[in-house]
Amino acid sequence: MCNLYRGRFAPSPTGPLHFGSLVSALASYLDAKKQHGTWIIRIEDVDGTRCKPLFSQQITDTLLSYHLFPDEDIRIQSRHTNAYEQQLSVLKAQKAVFPCNCTRQSLAQYHGNHPLVCDSSIDQPHSWRLKTSLATYQYQDSIQGLLNFDGDLKNNCPVLKRKDGYFSYQLAVVVDDHLQNITHLVRGADLIDTTAQQLHLYHLLGWTPPSICHIPLITNDSGDKISKQNHAKPIKNNHLATLLRALHYLKIDITPSSIEDALLLAIEAWDPSKLNGIKHLSLEEQDQHF
Ligand code: GLU
Repeated sequence: MCNLYRGRFAPSPTGPLHFGSLVSALASYLDAKKQHGTWIIRIEDVDGTRCKPLFSQQITDTLLSYHLFPDEDIRIQSRHTNAYEQQLSVLKAQKAVFPCNCTRQSLAQYHGNHPLVCDSSIDQPHSWRLKTSLATYQYQDSIQGLLNFDGDLKNNCPVLKRKDGYFSYQLAVVVDDHLQNITHLVRGADLIDTTAQQLHLYHLLGWTPPSICHIPLITNDSGDKISKQNHAKPIKNNHLATLLRALHYLKIDITPSSIEDALLLAIEAWDPSKLNGIKHLSLEEQDQHF
């Protein structure tokens, strides 16, 4: 039986799935299944310079090997750029975005940040940036509590479409979550900082945002997110012990005999309130090889 809950796991295929991403995938899956909802996978490959089809395939194979089967066809963002272009036009019509010719070199004097306004010409190669805003946002994150974003948009004008033609994660994620009728986002705490911009885009586009919650981020010895950037290893496919260790970080400790069993028991045991207020969890000694 499915209800109106629609959740998703939305990896960017810049490398194979690592342990931290498996934890996130599981959290979104368990939350959806606990609520008899629909769970989907979306491959967020809009950045054509960093994302590779090989990684999309590897990530999908790994998720399926852990029996994380999506309820609908997998959406591949790079095949839907028209949808992002269309919403960018809406923002252009509202004058909520501006063209920007700034280069890395020209921004060097601002330490890589944008000076917030620039005298750019639409006739030169340009990106599209979101204008700054005094809007403040607040939302109730069911795991992290009430989050206030005051002034986040005042000092920031993120790129929504790059000079090389690629759309940004920020625009694509909002458009797709809306078009796919996603009702619940369950994702890693590293994405908390992106939320104000996303709420602002929902506001500008006249859409209702989904409910959003952030699970703890798995960090390494130095307190950094374990990620492709700091050489997290790909996880093994179809490996019960890996799955059980990932569940452990979601406060689920079970002793099942198969992956299939593990997921059934984990759905039953999933209780996000056990993660309340936790933003980071350090990788335990025995899991350092992940
Ligand atoms: N594609 C994003 C990432 O891999 C996650 C998107 C999201 O969950 O909002 O970091």
